[in-house]
Amino acid sequence: MFEKILIANRGEIAARVIDTCRRMGVATVAVYSEADAASRHVAMADEAVLIGGPAPRDSYLRGDAIIQAALDTGAQAIHPGYGFLSENPDFVDAVTDAGLVFIGPTADAIRKMGLKDAAKALMEQAGVPVVPGYHGADQDPAHLARQAERIGYPVLIKAVAGGGGKGMRLVERPQDFQDALASAQGEAQTAFGNPAVLIEKYIQQPRHIEVQVFGDGTRAVHLFERDCSLQRRHQKVIEEAPAPGMTPEMRKVMGAAAVRAAEAIRYRGAGTIEFIVDGSDGLRPDRFWFMEMNTRLQVEHPVTELITGVDLVEWQLRVASGEFLPKRQEDLHINGHAFEARLYAEDVPAGFLPATGQLAHLAFPETARIETGVRPGDTISPWYDPMIAKIVTHGATRAIALRALESALVDTEVAGTTTNLEFLIALTRHPGFRKGQVDTGLIGRDLETLTAAAAPDPRARALAVLGLAGLDDPNVRGGITLWQPLRRTVAWQGGQAVVEVLGPGAARVTLDDSSHDILWRGDRWWVDGSPRRSRIINHAAGTSVFGGRSLTLVPADPLDRAGAETGGGLTLSPMPGLVKAIFVAAGDQVAAGDRLAVLEAMKMEHTLTAARDGTVAEVLASAGDQVEAGAPLIRLAEDEETAA
Ligand code: ADP
Ligand code: ADP
Ligand code: MG
Repeated sequence: MFEKILIANRGEIAARVIDTCRRMGVATVAVYSEADAASRHVAMADEAVLIGGPAPRDSYLRGDAIIQAALDTGAQAIHPGYGFLSENPDFVDAVTDAGLVFIGPTADAIRKMGLKDAAKALMEQAGVPVVPGYHGADQDPAHLARQAERIGYPVLIKAVAGGGGKGMRLVERPQDFQDALASAQGEAQTAFGNPAVLIEKYIQQPRHIEVQVFGDGTRAVHLFERDCSLQRRHQKVIEEAPAPGMTPEMRKVMGAAAVRAAEAIRYRGAGTIEFIVDGSDGLRPDRFWFMEMNTRLQVEHPVTELITGVDLVEWQLRVASGEFLPKRQEDLHINGHAFEARLYAEDVPAGFLPATGQLAHLAFPETARIETGVRPGDTISPWYDPMIAKIVTHGATRAIALRALESALVDTEVAGTTTNLEFLIALTRHPGFRKGQVDTGLIGRDLETLTAAAAPDPRARALAVLGLAGLDDPNVRGGITLWQPLRRTVAWQGGQAVVEVLGPGAARVTLDDSSHDILWRGDRWWVDGSPRRSRIINHAAGTSVFGGRSLTLVPADPLDRAGAETGGGLTLSPMPGLVKAIFVAAGDQVAAGDRLAVLEAMKMEHTLTAARDGTVAEVLASAGDQVEAGAPLIRLAEDEETAA
């Protein structure tokens, strides 16, 4: 076993790897960017090395600096985590050339699976079913259109170098094919430097079921399947294992296909074979097809760990240090059911825009396994994926594990940034999902209901007012101790209320339209005669009430004023991100709806358009800039300016 390894990653996955290393007595070296100097993974590691600026290309993507850090600290091996350099075969070669061990597959295996077209051809040879389609080299648009006709609409255009849903277009009618092709190729060229695409049959209402595999270079086993059908725009939101409705027969066939796939490339380490499954008629062994292989540890690996009892990072370290597979197929069994929800800093009503902010308060329930790279007080910065945590639960049955997830989410407390927590809770209550009726279109179909802003809850607001007034701690100021009779006005940004203390642990809060009686009795809050699960928390940013629907009141700041009215003249960045392109220059005439700029955030590109007709007065950002939410990008001239 290694004595010391370096983790070439950040955030929750770096922390996750360090956890296992610590348990195994392996010393750890973290690497970090300037933006991450005070981050959790750095604090957890035995040693840490600064490798550069905040932009990934200046730090976490700098293979040379990372390898040098490993050599300087005497680390014997490098764990890549996921994302960043984890699936970069040139990095693997460089690690090996430096005399270090890469904790993962060989460069050759990564290359074989790196391009979706070559991987599909290889899998066909290995006898693994692949989605019907065209994955040839001829990229002539007319030829591709004929292939689409042959496959039959609807079809999916995919970037062969793709990942994260980029360069992927659904085409339902032949007349839309050429436009979709051009835009997929453009996106693929920008994102991967490779415009090549493949065409696939689009499976209607499919399920995404993937099989965890593990190889030691000769033999491979599978650790059963995960269902990742709960997706938004091809991005996973909640994952579970095993797949609902899976039959022993189908599991056996899928598992065997996955093992064949891994053994065909003499796979070493943890990998995932992703299949697309037509579940319209139940799960049937002849209705699943290979989509791609991810040659790394997957984000959602904890659900597999919870049902198998295997620590996949431990297996990675053991196999990389030369051991054989720790278990045989017949020694692996499924125990119960597990779910994982991805908690993100994102603004759901605004269209899931990534958010940033300082975590003024952060607390998780002890009933769930939490994988996180942040602590209270840490900042979600615009530089990286805004994931706050993965919340993972286990139960004897699917129903129990799902209730545990719902409950863990309700008991999760985040203040200081907006999150997708309520969306995740709504998902756990979705009737179809509860029944295990999942497909990749579920979220899209029910998006409106799942993201509907809940009606304002004046009772939660009344509790928050109590906190803002400093009267929320029942043991100090209320409860047994007498609350001093008191009447005062409390103001916050956006409103005010009157709080009256009526007696021991009793108060009345009068809001604009309603008045509420609050009691602290039997270790809980009662509002208007009903008990609540609510918790009132005061923190640096104000006061929050948690327990299902959370609410934060920020104390009124006399200097605070309404945001400047832009009158459509100023285009602000709607989210933190990277300016990919600016299409206009000062003096250009634009019409409402014209493209002004493209912003990249959270693996997606967002086009910003002109809010009105006008003349560009100023361009305030350039391609390559990393911008904060609200940063001005382009200013259109006011009428008088144009006239002048
Ligand atoms: P990525 O590299 O972005 O992970 P994948 O090829 O793994 O791309 O596909 C991502 C998602 O896109 C799948 O989970 C599924 O929801 C959808 N998808 C992919 N291929 C198909 C297909 N042939 N038919 C329908 N949906 C598909
Ligand atoms: P999944 O594991 O859900 O199939 P992807 O294949 O899209 O996801 O990407 C794997 C994970 O890697 C993502 O969930 C994301 O957290 C992380 N990731 C993707 N791109 C980057 C990046 N540029 N830098 C760091 N992490 C990334
Ligand atoms: Mg995929």
